[in-house]
Amino acid sequence: MAAMPFRLARRRVFVAGHRGMVGQALVRRLAREGCEVLTAPRGELDLTRQAEVEDWMAKARPEAVFVAAARVGGILANDSRPVDFLLENLNIETNLIDSAHRVGVAKLLFLGSSCIYPRLADQPIREEALLTGSLEPTNEAYAIAKIAGVKLVQAYRRQHGADFISAMPTNLYGPGDNFDLETSHVLPALLRKAHEAKATGAGSLAVWGSGTPRREFLHVDDCADALVTLMKDWSDPMPVNVGCGEDIAIGDLARLTAAAVGFSGEILFDRSRPDGTPRKLLDVGRLFGLGWRPRIGLEAGLSATYRWFQENRAT
Ligand code: GDP
Repeated sequence: MAAMPFRLARRRVFVAGHRGMVGQALVRRLAREGCEVLTAPRGELDLTRQAEVEDWMAKARPEAVFVAAARVGGILANDSRPVDFLLENLNIETNLIDSAHRVGVAKLLFLGSSCIYPRLADQPIREEALLTGSLEPTNEAYAIAKIAGVKLVQAYRRQHGADFISAMPTNLYGPGDNFDLETSHVLPALLRKAHEAKATGAGSLAVWGSGTPRREFLHVDDCADALVTLMKDWSDPMPVNVGCGEDIAIGDLARLTAAAVGFSGEILFDRSRPDGTPRKLLDVGRLFGLGWRPRIGLEAGLSATYRWFQENRAT
């Protein structure tokens, strides 16, 4: 049985994927833990190459690993590039998880995603819903790769007694997000669209789909805080959902975003674009049972993310 809670202080902690939105938030959050944070510049380590990952891990000798590296994207990128999403994610996770085991990493946290659950799972979605039904087709490749990661983590626990765990974050947003309209998720896309519509004096803003799908949004700093809690206090084969427990219709999100940006034109719905899964609200009972709660509400998080966009990406 693994010692609980797992101590992070004075340990060597590897954040794989430190340039991504979640990885950056983890590096910020871990600064308060008194641990040594290890990161690998992309030029030095290609996580899709097994030999490179094995060499790097053997030299760096981390004691704890956050697997926050992944090929991620919104509904369009996922739907149009299934090879990239399946293959790169399988490579990254199998390389990291296996080499972590080989070098004796004491604790590893793998990040899955709420899209691994069945498309029509009962809401809110409990962790037990995994593999009980068919997946949403627009992100099936990504989901299959992430399910394989969760199963690999469970397999290392069972076969080798490794203290490896998985977390399933809901839709995340915040500083460091991708604001490219072709590949981003909905929240940064809407922020950017509202910003540009306001800047150009356009009368309207186009939202993809019907506006009726519902999504749950968690600020990435809250997510990083929850991941640190799980790293310390969770040791079980069951993955843990990471969310805020509330969702919102995309149409309402568009209105909130327009308000945060100060765009007062019309919001139009482009029904030629896919809606994706109708709803994916996570049951966060397991995480909240550990005493964890989110701190950043959606309106405050939207405004803060908009400020970050203006300072870092708007040009
Ligand atoms: P999903 O949660 O995997 O479906 O990923 P997204 O965040 O890309 O999309 C969530 C929902 O927002 C879907 O119903 C999209 O059709 C809708 N949506 C509305 N406008 C946009 C947009 O400009 N970009 C994206 N990516 N999604 C949008």
